[in-house]
Amino acid sequence: MDRLTSVHKFGGASVRDAEGVRNLARIISSLDGHRLLIVISAMGKTTNALESILSASQEGQTGEALAQWNALEKRHVAICAELFPEGIPEDLQRTLEAIGQRGQQLIGQPDASYDRAYDQLVGLGELFSTHIVSGFFAQNGLPNQWVDARDLIKTDSRHRDAHIDWQATEQNISNDLPEKGVIVTQGFIASDLGGTATTLGREGSDYSAAVLAYCLKAGKVSIWKDVPGILNADPRFFPDAVLLDRLSYDEAIELAYHGATVIHPRTIQPLKEKNIVLEVKSFKQPDSAGTRIEDGLTAPPPLPCFIRKSKQAFIQLHRKDLTFMAEEHLSAIYKVFDAHKARVHLSAHSAVSSAFSVDEENRILRSLAAEFRPNFDVSIQTGLRLFTIRHYTDDSIKMIEKEGMTVHIQKSSATCQLLLKPHG
Ligand code: ASP
Ligand code: MG
Repeated sequence: MDRLTSVHKFGGASVRDAEGVRNLARIISSLDGHRLLIVISAMGKTTNALESILSASQEGQTGEALAQWNALEKRHVAICAELFPEGIPEDLQRTLEAIGQRGQQLIGQPDASYDRAYDQLVGLGELFSTHIVSGFFAQNGLPNQWVDARDLIKTDSRHRDAHIDWQATEQNISNDLPEKGVIVTQGFIASDLGGTATTLGREGSDYSAAVLAYCLKAGKVSIWKDVPGILNADPRFFPDAVLLDRLSYDEAIELAYHGATVIHPRTIQPLKEKNIVLEVKSFKQPDSAGTRIEDGLTAPPPLPCFIRKSKQAFIQLHRKDLTFMAEEHLSAIYKVFDAHKARVHLSAHSAVSSAFSVDEENRILRSLAAEFRPNFDVSIQTGLRLFTIRHYTDDSIKMIEKEGMTVHIQKSSATCQLLLKPHG
């Protein structure tokens, strides 16, 4: 194990403005370690802005897309103006202009594949942010090397949801990554074996950090967030949420899998496999310990944990010919979900019917309904909220039931899922 290497991931909220970048530099300066790999997301809401630019461009609204692109570029330049009051260093200036031109070029030539176009354009957000951070570090006594994650992380060509080619990635990392010092790279982006950019899915930067840590056999990964760590519920909705100071890998996997937004669901597995400690900490209070996930812990958290997912659609499928919901039907159903990249958060089955809760996205729901209709009676109920309670108690279920009308409830030994039509 290379316990002298640690990986630090900073999300969009941490670098949303100039003060965020300064704070990041302060945190990095305070860390010791032989090799620090800093993985950074796009600044603030840049990825959302890029998604909107992409849809305009793909719909042929080139003028609109370019206008939004120019505004996004300006926001980055404005942050630089604050960070470099004596003038933006020339090489940084040139790099930002080159990214700007690349964006314009992509907008001008819409791709037949929406998902491939997505990865080329939307991934530019991380290039902006990492070049700016790296330039700022360099000017402020933090010599560092900027590395292109697309040269390191290799994937298949499943755009927007690429899968890691572990062998190629491990090889690149052992050949190309500097042996020591501060290294700045991007989360979220990668490339396929032909060199075409891919992405790892929304919020995928955590996973990038885990992939890099796994390949480096790093000692530790720290994910720096705007919350104090992993809480037993989202404090925006549960004011009494409590920080969980230690968690087992398996518990963290469960929470992330069920939709706790603090960490990307794929992040934990590679860390668990190599026994790499994961810390989730606040960039606002860098001295607080946060949550520590590590080997050797098996006890469940001391409290029920609540995961809330809004905008859910409940899809009920009833076989038209009254044959059993046999395995082959189920596998066909899941293939349809997979082909439409619909994420299933709950599933329930009886002899002749199945029900699923998926994220409500009208375009996807329409195609799903069309695919299922030949074989099933299909009913879709929208506007629902899904709660998953890990280590539920009767009281915790009662508390959630007050939020709406129960559409569906199911329990296993450790997990209760409740799908509700919210009141009001
Ligand atoms: N910038 C990407 C997103 O917002 C990846 C990430 O932040 O993890 O989804
Ligand atoms: Mg982000």
